[in-house]
Amino acid sequence: MVSLTLYGGVNEIGGNKILIEDRGSRIFLDFGQSFSLLDDYFVPEVYLTPRERFGLRDYFEFNLVPKLKGLYSKEAIQRTDLPYSEPEFDAVFISHAHFDHVAHLQYLHERIPVYMGEATKMIAESTEITTKNKMLPEGDIRTFRSGRRISVGGLTVTPIHVDHSVPGAYGFIVETSEGAVVYTGDFRLHGPKGVMSREFVEKAKEMEPEALIIEGTRVLPEEKRRNFSEEMVYSESKRIVSETDAFVMTMRYPKDLDRFMTFYRVAKECGRELVVSMKTAHLLIALQKDERLKLPDPRRSSVVRIYGRELRRYEGWMKELMEDAVDCSYVAENQRNVMLELDLWCLPELIDIQPKRGECIHSMSEPFEEDPISQVSDEVFCNWCKHFNLNNHQLHASGHASRGEIFEIIREINAGKILPIHTTGVELFRKEFKIENIEKGRKIEL
Ligand SMILES: [Zn+2]
Repeated sequence: MVSLTLYGGVNEIGGNKILIEDRGSRIFLDFGQSFSLLDDYFVPEVYLTPRERFGLRDYFEFNLVPKLKGLYSKEAIQRTDLPYSEPEFDAVFISHAHFDHVAHLQYLHERIPVYMGEATKMIAESTEITTKNKMLPEGDIRTFRSGRRISVGGLTVTPIHVDHSVPGAYGFIVETSEGAVVYTGDFRLHGPKGVMSREFVEKAKEMEPEALIIEGTRVLPEEKRRNFSEEMVYSESKRIVSETDAFVMTMRYPKDLDRFMTFYRVAKECGRELVVSMKTAHLLIALQKDERLKLPDPRRSSVVRIYGRELRRYEGWMKELMEDAVDCSYVAENQRNVMLELDLWCLPELIDIQPKRGECIHSMSEPFEEDPISQVSDEVFCNWCKHFNLNNHQLHASGHASRGEIFEIIREINAGKILPIHTTGVELFRKEFKIENIEKGRKIEL
């Protein structure tokens, strides 16, 4: 008997945790935390959070992670009523480096192997250093590339690259004893590497799968903001930057390096320097190891400069970067010749820079995208722009396929069973298709 159990991502964006069982073999696809997971019981803004020192104790109380024997490390469960046991799962496969797909790896039993793309591992390592967020498990991490078939017990898993708003994203084709199961991860068709997603869909179709687990982030009654293609973000940004002789500020999701490359291109073609955070510089340097990504090295680039914020204390990883960094007075003096990338929590830097006037390209929109810390109310943001005389432009290409594209792909792959995940639009799926009755933790037989 083959079964699928969704322990997260059910009627919510993110938190994907899919268990596939086939006789004695058990694997998880993704191991994330949803952005809304804690909302019913915890309010981080007022410091009401699970007590990390007690491992999973507070999570189990509210059923926020599955209480399964042989899944977690001794440390994660020693303060809970779940008895410790040797590993009873064969592997975890990670689709990409976003928080809502990896965040719970830190609790995993260290002898359960974790498979991820090479870029995903590099991104996670850099993020751990620059944000102090735990991303990777203690144990056995194995990397893959697109198309490699990986056998785990009676299952064979083939990762196929897809295009998403972070480098190194994959969907999976899992061959079971009763046919194939396809999982899309997060993906889009309109991005710069849309052909990779097409390739994934083709391969998935060929397998004539028994089940399709498909994301539905943008399966919504209506979308609040206009979505562009990456190419449109480029051309519109270029128009804005080339028409001004004043300061330009840009904002994007930290791991969205397609957007970084778009702004890099614009800066280069408009004769400006692109000034990036130390965090971004660290990530770009970490990803130099993967030359297929073709990212500029901020230590050598004539276009990229590193912005060294004035801090009371610099951590080890920052010290080296500070040697090449420019400061707020450099940006202030050269405000007509730079594009400054600023993270939301760094907005106070504008007080030191004192832009005379200028343009701001706000290049984010998904309310639940990868980084909860990237969220701030529109009103607060507009107040900052107004105060510093910056015209605000909203320009974003989503990391996710549109509702129409998702529905088209479901028809094309034509799987026996359809399981929407990573979506709040299950009812919209149901209007179009016969979908499985999914419930968190309920086993669905193939
Ligand atoms: Zn994602």
